[in-house]
Amino acid sequence: NDSAKEKLIRVHEESAELFHHILLNTTIGEEALEYLTQRGLTREVIDTFNIGFAPRERTMLHQYLVGKNYEQELLKKTGLFVEKDSGELLDRFYNRIIFPIRNQQGKTVAFSGRIFQQDADDSAPKYLNSPETQLFNKRTVLFNFDLARPSIRREKEVILFEGFMDVIGAWKAGITNGIASMGTSLTNEQIHLIDRTTDHVIIAYDGDSAGIEATKRASDLLAAETNFDIDIIRFAEGMDPDEYIKKNGADAFKELIAHGRETLFGFKMSYYRKSLNLSNESERLGYIEKILSELLSVTSAVERELYFKQLATEFDLSIDSLKEQFQQKFHESR
Ligand code: ATP
Ligand code: MN
Ligand code: MN
Ligand code: MN
Repeated sequence: NDSAKEKLIRVHEESAELFHHILLNTTIGEEALEYLTQRGLTREVIDTFNIGFAPRERTMLHQYLVGKNYEQELLKKTGLFVEKDSGELLDRFYNRIIFPIRNQQGKTVAFSGRIFQQDADDSAPKYLNSPETQLFNKRTVLFNFDLARPSIRREKEVILFEGFMDVIGAWKAGITNGIASMGTSLTNEQIHLIDRTTDHVIIAYDGDSAGIEATKRASDLLAAETNFDIDIIRFAEGMDPDEYIKKNGADAFKELIAHGRETLFGFKMSYYRKSLNLSNESERLGYIEKILSELLSVTSAVERELYFKQLATEFDLSIDSLKEQFQQKFHESR
């Protein structure tokens, strides 16, 4: 029921405040704060995202909340604790930097904790998320959607990043319409959320091969849903948006976001090309076929014309033969 949910939210809000306080005002938080400062975060961004630190002691949060008279049964439902065989609750998040995850209404419903120390256990995941709870279904949450929404409306576009730190780094650089999915591939629920706010999505995932594959996947999912206008921003291999900002500065990043876009079609041309040996005739034909199929979803005749010309020049074919082949595909697809 509602009041149980409200209590769970209150626990999350109070926990977030505690983590945030520990990060900023205690010696236990110094090392984590130093790490974030090294990564270029200012006090202002740390406040905006309410970033915190969960200390090593796995009893700290539990004791704090028990002190606030929350009952054990409620605490179990928060997902913030791990239950030992003895029934004792241990803090799930410890020795990690804490990113609160807010829902569309701006309520904190989960956390993600990042490891940051050199001596951290190698087998421990870099980011650890809250489990699914009554409050938190990771399929339906987009990181930063609540804060980004006004800028998404104003700019009439949203920027989709891979990671929390990309969203936060972009925010600090003045790009405030960025969001991220929860470390998983985009879900239909998330797409519908985006769809209600804008029809223009810019995908700015990491420049590594995982990021390129994720870009292909996300664009396919978006294209399958509605008439999203999709653009791609690509980063050099091994670089993500946050690293780009750190290396090149906020102005260069803003310039890239504004003018460094590639069309989805352009992205797909290079995507398919990468996996093929175009000096082989049958692979070359396969590539042209693939591209013509992709052209079916390009609705602008002018844009199509441009790509026909590109293909014709590149493969020394006549525009007429390409168009004929395209028309055939077009009829087959009806
Ligand atoms: P950082 O800059 O802090 O190293 P990142 O965002 O660049 O983080 P990536 O490895 O690119 O990290 O991962 C992108 C996103 O995927 C993260 O922001 C996080 O949401 C999610 N993620 C990464 N590793 C894990 C993990 N082990 N478990 C769950 N989610 C993860
Ligand atoms: Mn990545
Ligand atoms: Mn990354
Ligand atoms: Mn990163």
